[in-house]
Amino acid sequence: MSELPQGIRGRVIRPGDADYESARRVYNANIDRRPDLIVRCVDVADVMRCVSYARERGLAIAIRGGGHSAPGFGTCDGGVVIDLSSMKGIRVDPGARTARAEGGSTWADLDHATHAFGLATPGGIVSTTGIGGLTTGGGFGYLSRSYGLSCDNLISADVVTADGELRIASPTQNEDLFWAIRGGGGNFGVVTSFEFRLHPVRDMYAGPILYSLDQTAGVLRLYRDFLRTAPREMSAFFAFLIVPSHAPFPEHLWGKTLPGIMCACNADPAVAESMIRPLREFGPPLLALPHSMPYPFLQSLFDGLVPHGLHHYWKGDFVRDLTEEAIAEHVKFGPRLPTAQSIMHIYPLDGAVQDVGPTETAFAYRDVRFVHVISAISADSGSLPAYREWAQEYWAALHPHSAAGSYMNFLMEEGEERAAKSYGGNRERLAPIKAKYDPENLFRVNQNIQPTQRASA
Ligand SMILES: Cc1cc2nc3c(=O)[nH]c(=O)nc-3n(C[C@H](O)[C@H](O)[C@H](O)COP(=O)(O)OP(=O)(O)OC[C@H]3O[C@@H](n4cnc5c(N)ncnc54)[C@H](O)[C@@H]3O)c2cc1C
Repeated sequence: MSELPQGIRGRVIRPGDADYESARRVYNANIDRRPDLIVRCVDVADVMRCVSYARERGLAIAIRGGGHSAPGFGTCDGGVVIDLSSMKGIRVDPGARTARAEGGSTWADLDHATHAFGLATPGGIVSTTGIGGLTTGGGFGYLSRSYGLSCDNLISADVVTADGELRIASPTQNEDLFWAIRGGGGNFGVVTSFEFRLHPVRDMYAGPILYSLDQTAGVLRLYRDFLRTAPREMSAFFAFLIVPSHAPFPEHLWGKTLPGIMCACNADPAVAESMIRPLREFGPPLLALPHSMPYPFLQSLFDGLVPHGLHHYWKGDFVRDLTEEAIAEHVKFGPRLPTAQSIMHIYPLDGAVQDVGPTETAFAYRDVRFVHVISAISADSGSLPAYREWAQEYWAALHPHSAAGSYMNFLMEEGEERAAKSYGGNRERLAPIKAKYDPENLFRVNQNIQPTQRASA
C-alpha cells in the first residue's frame, strides 16, 4: 500500500493495526477477506476523499452499512472498505412526517428516533440490519403490506458517485440515479443519507403462532389463503424454526422443529385479535403468543437469535404463488432444518408493494406474492458445508415452482446470470445508468451491474 488517504477525519485501519482483525470482519463469520484499508468515515467529505483515493489507484470499494450482507459485500480482498458505521445522525421532522438518516444507521437507530413521534417507515425484521443495504436492495418488513418497500418510502438521497462528487437523487434531481438506487443496490455510489417518508405506527399486535409438524401442508395453505383477504395493516410471514430453549417458549416445545406464522398487525388490539382469529383457530396451534408491543420492541424481537458472528449460507427466490407442488417440497425439506439457528421464511410482497409498477423503481418484482429465504446458519464453520447442501437441495426442489429471480439481498455470490435475473426486466435500463455514474465499475463488490451503454445510445 502506498500513501494513505489524506485529510480523513475518521479512523483509517490497515493490516497490522491492533483492531484490523475485528474491523475486517462482517456479520457473516464465514466471510474471511483482507482489505488494504478500512476507513471509518465520519462525514460526506471523508466518503468523497475515500472514493477518489480508490478510483485514482484502481482499488475496489466495498461499502459497509450495517455489515449484514450474507455474501459479505461489506468487505473485500485488497481494496478499500468505506465503513459508514460512525455515520448515524438522524433528524426527524414530525410535522412533515419525514426522517433523514445517515447511511450507517441501522433499523434500530432509525426506529428509535422515529418512535418518539409515533412514526415509522418499513424496515427489515432484525433491527441490527443496516438501512443502507436493505433500502438500496428494496427492503421489506412488517409494514410493507401497508406502506410498501423501504425504497418506496425514499423521498431523496445524498449519493457520492464514482467521480467523488456528491449528488442529490430525488424525483426532480438526478432522477435516473434516484430510480436506480431503489432496487439496484450499491452499484451507483455511496448513499451518505436517506430521506424517508414516515407513517403513524406506535404499538403493534404481534407474535408467533406455532403448529404441529404434521399440519405443515395445512398451515402453508392457511398462510397463503389468509393473506389473500387480510387487510393491509395485517402482515405475516411463514417460518420453519427450531423452538428456542428459553422463555417465552414452554419447555415441552424446546428444540422441536415446527411450522409457524409470525403475525404483526398495526391496529388496535381488539381489531387485530379479530383479524388473526383464523390463525388462532386452525389446528389448534401448539402455542399462540401475539400481544401488543411497541414497534421497536417487535423490530428487535429476533435480534438475539441471529447475533453477529454466526456462519451463514442462504438461498432464495421470488415466488408467484404457493402452489401445491411447492407446498409438497416444503413439507419434505422444511422439517430437516439442520441447526437451531437455521430457518426457512416466506415473506409477503403484496398489498402496497404492488401499488408501485415494475418499472417505477429498479425493484422489478412487483407481481409476485411472496419471497422466500432458506438460511443454513451455524455457530461452527466446519459443519457449514453439510448445512449448505440442505439449503441448496431445498432451493433446487422449489426453484421450478418459483419466479425466475431472487431478491438481490438474499443472493450469495451466485454468478452474473442469477444477479441479472434479480433485476428482472429492469436490468437493461440499469446498465446505462451504471455506465453514466460508474463507468469503470468502481462499485463492483455487490450484485454487480456491468456498465454498458444501450445499443442504440
Ligand atoms: C438477520 C438478517 C435479517 C434480514 N432481514 C431482512 C428483512 O426483513 N427484509 C429485507 O429486505 N432484508 C433483510 N435482510 C437482508 C438485508 O437486506 C441485506 O443483508 C442487506 O445487504 C443488509 O444491509 P447492510 O447495510 O446491513 O449490509 P452491508 O453488508 O453493510 O452492505 C451490503 C451492500 O449493500 C450496499 N450498501 C450498504 N449500505 C449502503 C449505502 N449507504 N450506500 C450504498 N450502498 C450501500 C453495498 O453494496 C454493500 O456492499 C436481512 C439480513 C440479515 C442478516
